Amino acid sequence: MTAPVLYSLAGKRVFVAGHRGMVGSALMRRLAGERCELITVPRGDVDLRRQDAVERWMAANRPQAVFLAAATVGGIYINDARPGDFLYDNLAIETNVIEAARQVGVEKLMFLGSSCIYPRAARQPMPESELLTGPLEPTNQWYALAKIAGIMLCRAYRRQHGCDYISAMPTNLYGPGDNFDLEASHVIPALIAKAHRAKDRGGEIPVWGTGSPLREFMHVDDLADAVVFLMKNYSGEEHVNVGTGQEVSIRALAETVARIVGVERPLRFDPAKPDGMPRKLLDTGRLRELGWQPRIGLEEGLRATYAWYLEHVARHAA
Ligand code: GDP
Repeated sequence: MTAPVLYSLAGKRVFVAGHRGMVGSALMRRLAGERCELITVPRGDVDLRRQDAVERWMAANRPQAVFLAAATVGGIYINDARPGDFLYDNLAIETNVIEAARQVGVEKLMFLGSSCIYPRAARQPMPESELLTGPLEPTNQWYALAKIAGIMLCRAYRRQHGCDYISAMPTNLYGPGDNFDLEASHVIPALIAKAHRAKDRGGEIPVWGTGSPLREFMHVDDLADAVVFLMKNYSGEEHVNVGTGQEVSIRALAETVARIVGVERPLRFDPAKPDGMPRKLLDTGRLRELGWQPRIGLEEGLRATYAWYLEHVARHAA
């Protein structure tokens, strides 16, 4: 017999904020099997950065549960190039959605952050308790600061208003629906696009930085499953890390991507580009104790993502 869940989604009106993004669309796929009523709002109808629009939409639609997956996101370059957007957009989106949820009595809300909330020199693997123990990594500090504010707002609303609002901090994510634009993307979609181009046109595969940073990657379908699991089974002030426990160097990642894409061209590292955090591995002991484990290995996830890229991106660019 399975243990009863803390919070059941069955029959509930569930709002996925950011449903067109990589995380939001994975949540939509995962929640389709939950017998709940999914509600979404197109960006053209409600800009989540506008408080008045968000409050009016929430009052008219009255969700019972909210997954807050809307955010301005991007890789190491764009984070640093557009600091104002990364700080302002994310602060506005999270304060508007969380406060509007409180106003209409949302029963449970899941706020999604990122592993970049932890200090640059955090103890590795990084437990939840490393939050706010030191200075942030400069390349993503704007985004990190906004996400830290979101965690704290959920905590503050729990204390002051008794809201059952929780936070999950995913490791570096990838998968279908990712952004493959080379300036704005994270490393996995960038390497897929570059390896694919080298296969088509020859030449080297450019890789930013030295290749030595270590990263932990999770397929977005695993993340969606973990987030739904936490929504049902976790209630508490502290945010919960969501990761795989496996790390890989950027060099090894680039070699794996090239193999999967089927290209034998040399990698060209560019040390003039930033490495960012030297190492970023989450301690996921807490999530495992709660009873959740990832299922999709990196190799399998990369193959699926390359197949998605061929079908949805490369085909249209050709
Ligand atoms: P981060 O975890 O916030 O640093 O996110 P990214 O996914 O943007 O970058 C991860 C690592 O991959 C960093 O060390 C980057 O320098 C490295 N990297 C190598 N090539 C690329 C690339 O083409 N794009 C991006 N975004 N990162 C790259």
